[in-house]
Amino acid sequence: MGQEGMGYNNGKGGGGGLPMTAPRPRGASPLSSQHHHHHRSRKIHRTFNNVKITVLCGLVTILVLRGTIGLNLSLPSQPTDADALAGAKAVEDIDRILLEIRSDSGPDDDDAGDLGGSSAYNATALNATEAAAAYAEAVGRYALGPKIPDWDGQRRRWLAQNPGFPATVPGGKPRIMLVTGSQPGPCDNPLGDHYLLKTTKNKIDYCRLHGIEIVHNLAHLDTELAGYWAKLPLLRRLMLSHPEVEWIWWMDSDALFTDMAFELPLSRYDGHNLIIHGYQDLLFEKNSWIALNTGSFLFRNCQWSLDLLDAWAPMGPKGFIRDEAGKILTANLKGRPAFEADDQSALIYLLLSQKEKWMDKVFIENSYYLHGFWAGLVDKYEDMMENHHPGLGDERWPFVTHFVGCKPCGSYGDYPAERCLKSMERAFNFADNQVLRLYGFAHKGLENFKIKRVRNQTTKPINDKENLDVTSKISTTS
Ligand code: UDP
Ligand code: MN
Repeated sequence: MGQEGMGYNNGKGGGGGLPMTAPRPRGASPLSSQHHHHHRSRKIHRTFNNVKITVLCGLVTILVLRGTIGLNLSLPSQPTDADALAGAKAVEDIDRILLEIRSDSGPDDDDAGDLGGSSAYNATALNATEAAAAYAEAVGRYALGPKIPDWDGQRRRWLAQNPGFPATVPGGKPRIMLVTGSQPGPCDNPLGDHYLLKTTKNKIDYCRLHGIEIVHNLAHLDTELAGYWAKLPLLRRLMLSHPEVEWIWWMDSDALFTDMAFELPLSRYDGHNLIIHGYQDLLFEKNSWIALNTGSFLFRNCQWSLDLLDAWAPMGPKGFIRDEAGKILTANLKGRPAFEADDQSALIYLLLSQKEKWMDKVFIENSYYLHGFWAGLVDKYEDMMENHHPGLGDERWPFVTHFVGCKPCGSYGDYPAERCLKSMERAFNFADNQVLRLYGFAHKGLENFKIKRVRNQTTKPINDKENLDVTSKISTTS
């Protein structure tokens, strides 16, 4: 494709013409994502404790008032047995709440299971051989769920029995479900939530225009697989719950559609079950940890995909397993900094170590940007608008712009937050122009959320070709 220079800048934190100084992707910042999480859960916990103290003070006040001045809270003024009981109960409650506050351990701290939780293993207390054995044993015990032996057959029978839910959409194309998600709680910074809304709106727009179903998940279906691993149990669950869906398409919350007209060339993928952006030579010759990007990929709903998820997941359980697995990944993948196992490295490692088993069904796509690294793209949008048009999907008009390493919802990205947010605003408006155009509007500029009218209103909207014609709908060329 003659895009070596640019195409390879799909890195997690590196590339994009930036100095490749120690990229700190994902949870690899000085404070790991676990730290943030812990920090945040403590903060929430403290707020919760404050509420408890307030309630406690209220209770004490009521008890004292009742005891001293006989305040009548619509209860009989003479203490009865029931009153005494209620009083004793209140004192008991107060004791319990006080105890909880002092111990400062909430339910959130207890959810580490017996797999990766530090309660099960103390990595520092083990020597290397013991750690390896403990790791192998723990990995062997982990599963996403019960092994499903005959999904293809089960799904085929279900489809035959439910002709009202065909695996194709009107027009005959395969049914696609786009899946995205974000953390269950608020972002560290309200601006993060604002951009989460914008990236979600962007996905809703693309899906609406192309007849794709969309799911936005906020839950951690498996507490072991929180964070960037959350997509695995989710994809499995959705495949099983939606046999009518042919393709499940994961897209990160920090990825935006920037070509609203481009459509996946699905017929190209007939013999394949996993479609992912990447580079064959980076994978098999360089063993690079950015050879593939797991910010946007598709799985066919079939047994093979369930098996791949099963093979992919074991490095994910948080704590001991994820930490130990991180060491294996860093030792084996070129360019990978030392940090806990992430889903992307784990997939690359799996495909490298079991090439024969999986690769014939994996399609490594780079003829268009199923994932496009933002740093190499966002400053070129004006040039693109000048010289090209939507529908191309490649470097001329990138299908997806992915803000790898920006962590807009967290506080510790690999790039200055200001640069990330400004770039996300540009990507959003670049895409939004392609949507607003359908209704006769455009943003005043790529860094401006205000809009202007670009088409005169008519009294015969039905005759207005631009208003209804799908092909001219999205194009920004006049
Ligand atoms: N994510 C999720 N639930 C969580 C945390 C993350 O679904 O609790 C998803 C979210 O869509 C996010 C993705 O996991 O975009 C991967 O993380 P991130 O984009 O921060 O990683 P990067 O692309 O920067 O490597
Ligand atoms: Mn991402």
